[in-house]
Amino acid sequence: MKIIDTHCHLISKAFTSDVEACILRAQEAGVGKMLLACCDETEFPLIMELCAKHPDVLFPSIGIHPENMADNIEVQLAATKRLLDNYCLSEEGELIRRLPIGEIGFDLYWDKTRFDDQKKILQAQFDWALAYDLPVLLHIRDAMQEFLDFLHLYLTKKYYKAPIGDPIKNRRLRGILHCYSGNAEQAREAMKLGDFMIGVGGTLTYKNSRVPEVVKAIGIDNIVLETDSPYLAPIPHRGRRNEPSYTADTARFLAELLDLTLEEVAKTTTKNAENLLGI
Ligand SMILES: [Zn+2]
Repeated sequence: MKIIDTHCHLISKAFTSDVEACILRAQEAGVGKMLLACCDETEFPLIMELCAKHPDVLFPSIGIHPENMADNIEVQLAATKRLLDNYCLSEEGELIRRLPIGEIGFDLYWDKTRFDDQKKILQAQFDWALAYDLPVLLHIRDAMQEFLDFLHLYLTKKYYKAPIGDPIKNRRLRGILHCYSGNAEQAREAMKLGDFMIGVGGTLTYKNSRVPEVVKAIGIDNIVLETDSPYLAPIPHRGRRNEPSYTADTARFLAELLDLTLEEVAKTTTKNAENLLGI
C-alpha cells in the first residue's frame, strides 16, 4: 500500500524529540509522501530544512494561517512573498518550481475581531496561487458559508486583476479543503467554484462525526487523506499525539465506509493528491 499524508505539522514542538522515528514509522505504514503544512513565514525555513533531509518523501508548502496573522499584515505578506519568489522563480524571474500555498483560510472559531484582515491575506494568497498556478491548502473553521461567499465574490468581481490577454484569466483555483467540516452541499458548491478536493483525517472516525455522510456524498474521486498531526488523531489513537503513520487508520476506516478495498482507497487518494499537488 502507498498512501499520502497531505497535511501534517512535523516541525511542531510535539515532534522535536522523535521526528525521524515518526517519518520512518510512517513509511513502514505505507505513507510514502508527506506534505508539511506551513502556518507562517517563520516556519518556512524549518520546513525547508526538514524536507531537504528527505527528498521525494517530505514536501513543503508556504502560507499564512489566519491564526498566525501578524499585527502588520502588509509586512508579513511581503516577507512571505519574498520567500515564495525565492523558491519558485529563477534569477531571471521565470517560474521553475511549484509548491502549495497553505495553510490559509478563515478561522472564526478563535477570533472574529480581525475578519477583514483574514480576508485581505486570503485574497493576496489566492492572487499568488493564480499567478503561479499553485494549489492551495485551505483551513476553514466555523466559516464555511463566509468562505463560499468570499470565494464567489473573489471570482465574480475579479479581485485578481490579470493583464488583458493573460492566460491567468481562465485559471481556476484548485486545492484541498483540509480537515473538511462543512456539509455535502457546501462541498459541492465549493467544487463548482474551483477544483477542490476534501481532505479527510481523524475526524472521519469520531463518533457523531458528520464527515462520513459528506464523504459518501462526495465520493472517493474527490478525497485525499491527511492527518493534521500532531492534532486530531484518528480512532484508535484519539486523545494522543497524532502522527503521519496514522493516515493508514483513516484509510482503513474510509475503505470500510465506502465499501472499497484498502488498495482501491490507497490508489485513488494517492492519484488525487499527486495530480492536485504535483508531488
Ligand atoms: Zn494544519
